[in-house]
Amino acid sequence: MEQQEASARPFRVVILGAGFGGLEAAKAMAHAPVEITLVDRHNYHLFQPLLYQVATAALSPGDIAWPIRAIFRRQRNLSVVMVEATGIDTAARLVHAGEDLTLPYDALVLATGATHSYFGHDEWAPVAPGLKTIEDATDIRRRLLLAFERAEVTDDAEERRRLLTFVVIGAGPTGVELAGAMVELARHAMPREFHRIDPAMALVVLVEAGPRVLPSFPEELGQVARTSLERMGVQVLTNTRVTGCSATAVE
Ligand SMILES: Cc1cc2nc3c(=O)[nH]c(=O)nc-3n(C[C@H](O)[C@H](O)[C@H](O)COP(=O)(O)OP(=O)(O)OC[C@H]3O[C@@H](n4cnc5c(N)ncnc54)[C@H](O)[C@@H]3O)c2cc1C
Repeated sequence: MEQQEASARPFRVVILGAGFGGLEAAKAMAHAPVEITLVDRHNYHLFQPLLYQVATAALSPGDIAWPIRAIFRRQRNLSVVMVEATGIDTAARLVHAGEDLTLPYDALVLATGATHSYFGHDEWAPVAPGLKTIEDATDIRRRLLLAFERAEVTDDAEERRRLLTFVVIGAGPTGVELAGAMVELARHAMPREFHRIDPAMALVVLVEAGPRVLPSFPEELGQVARTSLERMGVQVLTNTRVTGCSATAVE
């Protein structure tokens, strides 16, 4: 009897996460005889590659976040549920979500992404936000812009120098893009907006523990990136391991 019921209803696929992985999985099943439930804690898909531009005020959050429902407006075999998944019961084939929601599935696609790592220094999180979410990007933008505002009003030269020094730790693609965009912001976007300070005097330091920037790319590309950054005014420190971070200094 139970078997008959199971074969009468459509095959249920639950996809957790509407990042690139979840979206591609859902689209690939657009014409399959399945019933898809796409679950995400947000109602938007975030285009993470451009987070650094939100962090440096070149784009607004809405420019890189697309409503998931709009993306799948025409996909009739898919429904979107905005909720945080809290657990999976693989024996019962159930996803637990939110306060008391359970979502049964025949197949589960787990595409919940990854988060950044502090390499064993989680205590740095409050002073050094990662760059994975809209909240991270707007937090970095707030800190960045506030530093210029505070530098404008202080009479203490040493404090002004500190406020206008920005350190990016890690010269992977995100660190390289972010450091470059910070210098562009200081040198090209802001100069005439402040009257007591010269934003172009801001110092952006990119610190990398390994021997070169963009370690996951071919060496010559890393060299080209380093030369471009230095030409733009970024100070690049390789073979330099950060050992401490506080609200006012990086060791
Ligand atoms: C700053 C930055 C720049 C990047 N630049 C590039 C680039 O230039 N080129 C490139 O190819 N890649 C780039 N990447 C990497 C790329 O963005 C990731 O590889 C990609 O986003 C991973 O896709 P994903 O679907 O696995 O996870 P994500 O895109 O992280 O999606 C995971 C989704 O799952 C949801 N989720 C997580 N947990 C739960 C839960 N418990 N309940 C409900 N929903 C949940 C999240 O809200 C999210 O929407 C960049 C990444 C970052 C952070």
